[in-house]
Amino acid sequence: MTLLHDASTVPTQTPSPAASVTPRLVPASIGRPGRVQTVHVSCPAWCVLDHLDERVVAVEDISHRGQVDHVEVPTMGDDLYSVFEVYSQLFSDPISEDPRMREASVVVTDGSNDAYLTPDMADVFADSLVAFAEQVRVLARTARGA
Ligand SMILES: [Zn+2]
Repeated sequence: MTLLHDASTVPTQTPSPAASVTPRLVPASIGRPGRVQTVHVSCPAWCVLDHLDERVVAVEDISHRGQVDHVEVPTMGDDLYSVFEVYSQLFSDPISEDPRMREASVVVTDGSNDAYLTPDMADVFADSLVAFAEQVRVLARTARGA
């Protein structure tokens, strides 16, 4: 059986930014070994941590992290080695003294240094990465002699 739909009448769903940050209550393991208890904490929908599996000493120690994305810079002569690796993910620390850290922010890290970006800062940074990527393509074309 074939169903035909007029595409102009089919409602489209667009992701709601608000829906992606709606918190949910999740179980979390709190306490020192031998005195661990399970509590429920508010956790943003984008958080990928298993707060039940990743025990912390106190509720104040809980932070939230999103899915990690990364980019690598390879080098000639060693297919197994990346000279640079940069990672990004969403992050929030609900009890931070800095109110900006209590909200979702973007963390960009090389594994040693962490940069915490507000959404506006992340947009500006992303624009600079796009410009940088375009310049790398220009260099590649020049290197090919095009
Ligand atoms: Zn969480």
